[in-house]
Amino acid sequence: MRHSEYDVVILGCGPAGLSAAVNATIRNKKVLVIGGDPCSPPMHKAQKIDNYLGLPSISGAELLQRFMAHAQAMDIEIINGKIDLITDMGEDYQLILQDQFISSKTIIIATGVPYKNTLPREEDMLGKGLGYCATCDGPLYRDKTVMLISHNEEGEEEADFMAQICRNVYYVPLYKKIGTMDARVKVLQERPQEIIGKEELAGVRMANGQVIPVDGLFILGGETSPSRLIPGLEMDDRHIIVNRKQETNLHGVLAAGDCTGKPYQVAKSIGEGQVAGLQASSLASTRPTNKGF
Ligand SMILES: Cc1cc2nc3c(=O)[nH]c(=O)nc-3n(C[C@H](O)[C@H](O)[C@H](O)COP(=O)(O)OP(=O)(O)OC[C@H]3O[C@@H](n4cnc5c(N)ncnc54)[C@H](O)[C@@H]3O)c2cc1C
Repeated sequence: MRHSEYDVVILGCGPAGLSAAVNATIRNKKVLVIGGDPCSPPMHKAQKIDNYLGLPSISGAELLQRFMAHAQAMDIEIINGKIDLITDMGEDYQLILQDQFISSKTIIIATGVPYKNTLPREEDMLGKGLGYCATCDGPLYRDKTVMLISHNEEGEEEADFMAQICRNVYYVPLYKKIGTMDARVKVLQERPQEIIGKEELAGVRMANGQVIPVDGLFILGGETSPSRLIPGLEMDDRHIIVNRKQETNLHGVLAAGDCTGKPYQVAKSIGEGQVAGLQASSLASTRPTNKGF
């Protein structure tokens, strides 16, 4: 098995991961990026991004392509793959990818928000009416009908927000006790079963067979945890806890982008990726033994 050593290994080649890679490379560090194909599934699905400064009305796929071109022009090594476990060896971190044994002084987690499917065909419908952040996409559904399916009470705030701008808001709690919500939100106790629509979302079939026509569907709070990736990683519910240098509680492990919390946005991911890349570069030069931040 091949053994490669790096200063900085980055999990995820979305905007957070690529920004970290560019900045660590500028600091002369040996950098490896590992991520899926396409590099950022959410960006790939975003039909139009209107809030990335300097590049208005650009599609997510095109913006991602520009990010990739930037990284490629700097000869940054990007490998397609998924890492399931990272082991802390004290001196460094170790991971296995295909036939490669990889060790690195620092790790940057930029894995985005991984979702465990709540309904079949979620991947197919992402960007075609289905999303995971109602408040982010809310303005697209002004005066329309939306449904929010939530695994936890955090969805209530998002539903209340949508009630202010949408014509109809259905809320399906997948948990027991719901709080007081905006009176305009229609709470449904029936469980959702199936997404209706192929090229475009048409509705949701509930367990009792009723089809509710909706323009937008949001599934909230169904993520799987990155703490499975590195045992001991401190999480705040679903997000990795970081300080202002993007350091986690594990020395030499940093995190950036959607995986550290809301807002789930490209510009925030780029900014956090930059800070993580610079801080990882600085830690890789020293790698002191004290743990935590
Ligand atoms: C439909 C839609 C519209 C959107 N519109 C906008 C918008 O208008 N404006 C805006 O700012 N944002 C928008 N977003 C959000 C934006 O796309 C995300 O905030 C951004 O992509 C997050 O970047 P990231 O780098 O944190 O994660 P991601 O882009 O999700 O990248 C995560 C990366 O981690 C990799 N990965 C995951 N697990 C592992 C693992 N175990 N090992 C290795 N690699 C792993 C994935 O393969 C991927 O490469 C939109 C999202 C969607 C879905």
